[in-house]
Amino acid sequence: MADVLTPDQRQLNMSRIRGRDTKPEMFVRRGLHAGGFRYRLQDRQLPGRPDLVFPRYHAVIFVHGCFWHGHDCPMFKLPTTRRDFWDAKIASNRSRDERTTTALLESGWRVATVWECSLKGPARLPENEVIRQCRAFLLSQEAILINIRGEVRTHEE
Ligand SMILES: [Zn+2]
Repeated sequence: MADVLTPDQRQLNMSRIRGRDTKPEMFVRRGLHAGGFRYRLQDRQLPGRPDLVFPRYHAVIFVHGCFWHGHDCPMFKLPTTRRDFWDAKIASNRSRDERTTTALLESGWRVATVWECSLKGPARLPENEVIRQCRAFLLSQEAILINIRGEVRTHEE
């Protein structure tokens, strides 16, 4: 495979480097703020320092980049170079995410994860849909763990 990056791959490389205030996160923040939801950002007291914390609703929302967090989706592709390094890195990120989620749930927090692929790329959902699901999650009592992710469509018509 040639080691030449398309503009899309270059963009992905950049998004791997930026850790915070990413576009997907800003989108979720703006959408919820406009809906009247108030949150704290990256509360260091909580496991995993969740991106958005809603004390009133006893809920947190993570906005996860699909590459960095090793999402099983079309946006995740292991780089062809330094494969072992990335394999180990992503695996360790994934198990840290699992520990974080468990710790939050055990201390009574409700946890939602918005995956990058729900907001960009070929599998993205309509923008309003992501915010709608976030609001529904916050207002619900019973949901303790949800994932908002892109829809993988089949190519069959
Ligand atoms: Zn994804």
